[in-house]
Amino acid sequence: QPERIITGDRRPEDLDAALRPKTLDDFVGQRAARENLRVFINAAKARGDALDHVLFFGPPGLGKTTLAQIIARELGVGFRATSGPVIAKSGDLAALLTNLEDGDVLFIDEIHRLNPAVEEVLYPAMEDRALDLMIGEGPSARSVRIDLPKFTLVGATTRQGLLTTPLRDRFGIPVRLSFYTVEELEKVVRRAAGLMELDLTDDGATEIARRSRGTPRIAGRLLRRVRDFAHATGDDRVDARAADGALTRMEVDELGLDAMDRRYLNMIADIYKGGPVGVETLAAGLSEPRDTIEEVIEPYLIQLGLIARTARGRCLNGRGWTHLGLTPPRSEQE
Ligand code: ADP
Repeated sequence: QPERIITGDRRPEDLDAALRPKTLDDFVGQRAARENLRVFINAAKARGDALDHVLFFGPPGLGKTTLAQIIARELGVGFRATSGPVIAKSGDLAALLTNLEDGDVLFIDEIHRLNPAVEEVLYPAMEDRALDLMIGEGPSARSVRIDLPKFTLVGATTRQGLLTTPLRDRFGIPVRLSFYTVEELEKVVRRAAGLMELDLTDDGATEIARRSRGTPRIAGRLLRRVRDFAHATGDDRVDARAADGALTRMEVDELGLDAMDRRYLNMIADIYKGGPVGVETLAAGLSEPRDTIEEVIEPYLIQLGLIARTARGRCLNGRGWTHLGLTPPRSEQE
């Protein structure tokens, strides 16, 4: 099939960029967040002022980076992106800030991972749009204040509570992103299939959406893998049956849980008889960082009602036992 060679498959990261919605209207879901942002963006534009600083928080893959880019585009300003762990020294941040232009958006991903010395520089930058530099050392050291352009900081983090209070307080527009509904993910998947020129039936879109863990990034990933399986079988049409076959081969179950999710659930069930068990214990048992457990694995399992976070630790709910095909111990059944 020569046309396939000519079309070529773009590298995944290029495709990812192509699939990213570019305007608020293209952005699916998160309706309240989207409409509020629209109001604030229009107001800032009407005033000819920079937008207030925005903090996005929520699990990975829900669209924080995408929305930051959309904000810059809707404002018609420049966009610079970096991430907390990358900014090693306060001088690095100072260099970034002084290179901005009026109105620019500076996006800092994983902003909770800024080192404290760097964070200190950010406070006056956000509040007074100024930089306090120390010149010299010892008794002759003095501080000089430099004015910065009127920029907008857009921060992203998985949980709002990870930020220090002074940093959190300096964001005028905090925005929580939540998991997407199946209907919203169907739209995401259909839009992506259209851009990929993939023949996806309605029930195929529903099947992928149902198993995407409420997360657009996962929906995009699953869609690409499902397409690969379809190509491999020579049948380019993806319906629910084809999607189910591919997803099952990828060990994504009917709730969208993957092998890691099931290892987590099985560990609570088999070894801790349903819990409660502490997160550190689970992290050690699964050889996964505690952050991954708390920010990637658990939020969706809690949303589905499979587990509960209690003061004494994590517990498997009745629904969790059922999903594993196990019978809960007597006390759980009552
Ligand atoms: P985060 O920064 O929260 O981890 P991203 O903004 O990088 O997430 O989004 C992950 C992927 O999901 C991107 O490829 C993006 O195109 C897609 N995506 C996120 N939100 C949406 C949405 N609302 N509609 C369509 N695609 C989305």
